[in-house]
Amino acid sequence: MKVTFLGTGTSQGIPVIGSDHPVCLSTNPKDKRLRVSVLIEWDDFTYVIDCGPDFRQQMLKTNCSKIDGIIFTHEHADHTAGLDDIRPFYFRQGDIPFYAHERVLSELSKRFNYIFTTKDKYPGVPSVIQHEIKNESFLLGNLPVMPINGYHYKLQVFGFRFGDFAYLTDMKTIADEEVDKLKGVKVLVVNALREKEHMSHFNLEEALDFIDKVKPETAYLTHISHYLGFHDVVQQSLPENVFLAYDNLQIEL
Ligand SMILES: [Zn+2]
Ligand SMILES: [Zn+2]
Repeated sequence: MKVTFLGTGTSQGIPVIGSDHPVCLSTNPKDKRLRVSVLIEWDDFTYVIDCGPDFRQQMLKTNCSKIDGIIFTHEHADHTAGLDDIRPFYFRQGDIPFYAHERVLSELSKRFNYIFTTKDKYPGVPSVIQHEIKNESFLLGNLPVMPINGYHYKLQVFGFRFGDFAYLTDMKTIADEEVDKLKGVKVLVVNALREKEHMSHFNLEEALDFIDKVKPETAYLTHISHYLGFHDVVQQSLPENVFLAYDNLQIEL
């Protein structure tokens, strides 16, 4: 399995528009973060988790010409606003499979009614196949995927475990029985916004405590704000099996 971090930034991305914060002015490519998303590839399968406003550039950057589906963690715009850009995939492949919680599918069908509607479609408008994710294992290609249910302030969010790999973003609280589903995972990706506490996201300390609970071999932090600091400086302060993810980082499992 190959995982590509398409974006590792929080909702505004880094740099933030108009910001003169030193991290936003950094020339280190590892300090430039598009909105969070990962590409997951195994055998002949290619799936994307989330489809934020940077989806087009991310697909161009990875030369991705085919996707077998898009899996959504939740409905926030930084995870969904790129939906119109599934069009090139739709033109080549036909209807694009979407996997999400029922609430997320319903919310997206309001925001992107022209895509979800089956009547009187304007020519060139893409179509999707909706797959509802419940909090139980489901099949993607030939691989069973286990949802991990958590909360983002009061909003339900899904993380996902694909065998030895798990990806969790926009988490603030996760029940112990959900954490148990991560036992034995080799590579864990989890969100860490900044040092200061936040109402709806793990800060760095909460992310490190969570990693300590799960005990993966290796962990990567994502959904990062410019307030967390410079990539190279923050990396020095982390435990030896924990890494700050950065855009275009690839890991093989
Ligand atoms: Zn987010
Ligand atoms: Zn969110």
